[in-house]
Amino acid sequence: MEINEKYIAEIVEKVLRDTRETETIKKQKGVFETMEEALEAVGKAYTQFRKYTIEQREQMISKIREFTYAEAENLAKLGVEETGMGRVTDKIMKHQVVAAKTPGTEDLDTRAYSGDAGLTLVEMAPFGVIGSITPSTNPSETVICNTIGMIAGGNAVVFNPHPNAKKTSNYAVDMVNRAILEAGGPENLVVSVANPTMDSTKEMMSAPAVKMLVATGGPGVVKALLSSGKKAIGAGAGNPPVIVDKTADVEKAGRDIVLGASFDNNLPCIAEKECFAVDSIADELIYHMTQNGAYLIKGKQIDELVKIALVENKGKLGINKKFVGRDAKKFLKELGIDADPRLIICETDFDHPFVQEELMMPILPIVRVKDVDTAIELATKAEHGNRHSAHIHSKNIDNITKFAKAVETTIFVKNAPSYAGIGVGGEAHTTFTIAGPTGEGLTSARSFTRQRRCVMVEALHII
Ligand code: NAD
Repeated sequence: MEINEKYIAEIVEKVLRDTRETETIKKQKGVFETMEEALEAVGKAYTQFRKYTIEQREQMISKIREFTYAEAENLAKLGVEETGMGRVTDKIMKHQVVAAKTPGTEDLDTRAYSGDAGLTLVEMAPFGVIGSITPSTNPSETVICNTIGMIAGGNAVVFNPHPNAKKTSNYAVDMVNRAILEAGGPENLVVSVANPTMDSTKEMMSAPAVKMLVATGGPGVVKALLSSGKKAIGAGAGNPPVIVDKTADVEKAGRDIVLGASFDNNLPCIAEKECFAVDSIADELIYHMTQNGAYLIKGKQIDELVKIALVENKGKLGINKKFVGRDAKKFLKELGIDADPRLIICETDFDHPFVQEELMMPILPIVRVKDVDTAIELATKAEHGNRHSAHIHSKNIDNITKFAKAVETTIFVKNAPSYAGIGVGGEAHTTFTIAGPTGEGLTSARSFTRQRRCVMVEALHII
């Protein structure tokens, strides 16, 4: 029998790679082969964690922040390498923002009611073990951000990460566990599975020990979660429009929109995904966009780009997953154009799939409209009732107010890149779990707690 040396070499390489990966998993803290093992370990960790003080929680969180800064570049590179999506420099910044601006225990408020009948306290207590489903678009950012908020609230957490981002997510799980241990915390306070599947998701969702579920992702996962019968936080899809009216600082608007829409190749759910420009300033806006990193395509090039970015599935056009989060230059190369901009822009009508679909690609369609009222009407329709994010560049407070009232989004940014809405160049905290459907908004430690009332009658009221 003839021996195919190349074939054997490939098998040997695969076995070695699998062994290396298994060894890595074994060494990764908190990462288990099965959901059953993960659930057992996190249950034990939670029992221990209940004895820890709030100050000790804060010490663990400080270490997680420190480790996140130190590992930001590794996590960013790993995320891009594994998923093929996003930009390393932008992902580094996302991790730094998580480390700096995710609230810790200071987010927990105790309310007190005192009066003739005594003193009543309402405290924010842990749920227990939280089950969290995380996306491929911000994998390690979500793991770290959820961990900080959840343990600040006194909880333990079991993650079921996106299968396409399991390495990056589990690298983050290992990292937070190392930080927790270094700060004197319990083993396996944060756990995950090496190979997440739909079965492991179901097992996690139905486990009696899991008292709350949190999902960050598209409509499928949010729907599945809300049908679980458990307390659930759903952070779902968006399709954020941005309006530019005739009162805007058009140069700034052009620059800000390119910055926001191209950030991490448009992966963030809050990023500008379609633009509505009032006709009188549209040409000027497009000019300033092209001066700030955007590449304008026209006519047949747009039709060609549709064939790259979208694929037909069951008679309906949907996003081509192979191109989600890819660099703009990759799309342009397919069009025979040799350029490396941050963003591709094009003029389309309202019904164009680039407007209607949540592409998560560095492509921004611009719809020219006759006036701001038309912009508000169409932008609200394009948001599809997700109530997620919407943005505007305007100096007219009536226009701003009218759009905000019509679109009813969780995040509404005025005169800045979309990422100001998650605390980058804007006030207030950050999160990578924006819960529109279930109403918690920009989640933080308090979102992962339950209120408990403690009543003392005819005492401890001292006046
Ligand atoms: P996705 O929906 O494909 O996956 C998210 C997670 O849900 C994964 O872990 C996946 O395995 C799991 N999942 C998917 N369908 C499921 C089902 N039916 N039952 C149980 N689990 C299921 O999302 P993605 O491609 O990784 O991320 C992009 C999407 O997530 C976009 O729609 C984006 O807008 C949204 N997103 C929202 C937020 C937010 O804070 N609201 C943040 C990031 C991403």
